[in-house]
Amino acid sequence: MYPASVVSDKLLRMSETRPAKLIEGSALAWQILDSTRHKIVSIHEKTGVTPCLATVLVGENESSAVYVRMKRKRCESVGMKSVTIELPHETTTDELVGEVSKLAQDSSVHGILIQHPVPRTIDKRVAFETIPLLKDVDGVTSAAMGRLILGMPAFPACTPAGIMRLLVQHNVQFDGTHAVVIGRSPIIGRPMASMLINAHATVTLCHSRTRDLSSIVRQADILIAAVGKPQFVQGDWIKEGAVVVDAGYNEGNVGDVDFEAASLRAGMITPVPGGVGPMTIATLIEQTADAAIEQLGIEV
Ligand code: NAP
Repeated sequence: MYPASVVSDKLLRMSETRPAKLIEGSALAWQILDSTRHKIVSIHEKTGVTPCLATVLVGENESSAVYVRMKRKRCESVGMKSVTIELPHETTTDELVGEVSKLAQDSSVHGILIQHPVPRTIDKRVAFETIPLLKDVDGVTSAAMGRLILGMPAFPACTPAGIMRLLVQHNVQFDGTHAVVIGRSPIIGRPMASMLINAHATVTLCHSRTRDLSSIVRQADILIAAVGKPQFVQGDWIKEGAVVVDAGYNEGNVGDVDFEAASLRAGMITPVPGGVGPMTIATLIEQTADAAIEQLGIEV
């Protein structure tokens, strides 16, 4: 979660100059964390077990280390256990698979997350596939993704799941709208497109080879930006009244959308920070508690 002052500065600037409604994620994220805290108490009362999230971090990536610390703090705040397995940059795919397999077999671990990015020398897909479906709390395995596409139960990727929840809370209608997603990564773009299709939007999924991106974005009733390039989406690409979701997070607390310019045309817009980010972590923690409930075979 981000300091209230950063978020409220953004709110203040918005109210002075622009009509777009701010889609703020922190409040809903706290609600989710609060209800998860209650679930964790119930799980412990019924079984004596405390749900546990295991995160595997490979190499020394500064922002990954920050994310992992943030996740650990959030876990502690709701009474969930968290363990972090730190592996050196030189770790091979086989070694990573070995570590993930140990976590897969450990009944005290209920959710497994391999922190992105991993060094290029590692075959990420092979490592992901080692996570059992029931412990795949970030929806990264082919089984979880296939089930998501088909509308079958599985834990979805946390960032797009958090985005959907935020949009539903703000009464955004999907049925029949044109949604444009920029970015086709397995953790954001692709599952996001599937979720929007399942909600009956017509979806255009764009990527680095897309031609005339700006004219496609200009048709978007709902725009999801997940590019990883600061202020990449320009204000004049935004259709009047569109719902703009910025999933990007770049150095200096900057998103993938030019927030100031986009806010002048958008109907609703997420800030960075304080929009999508807090929802990702809250969803991850909630899904880990739900994974524990399923693995323990209890009802809470
Ligand atoms: P990624 O794996 O690097 O994917 C980026 C996507 O953007 C790719 O599909 C790429 O296309 C596309 N792209 C790159 N340049 C483009 C261009 N000029 N025009 C159109 N598309 C272009 O990144 P990611 O992991 O999805 O992350 C995206 C952003 O989300 C990053 O800023 C990251 O920090 C942020 N993020 C936020 C959260 C959160 O909780 N808020 C969580 C995870 C990530 P190709 O496929 O053709 O290369």
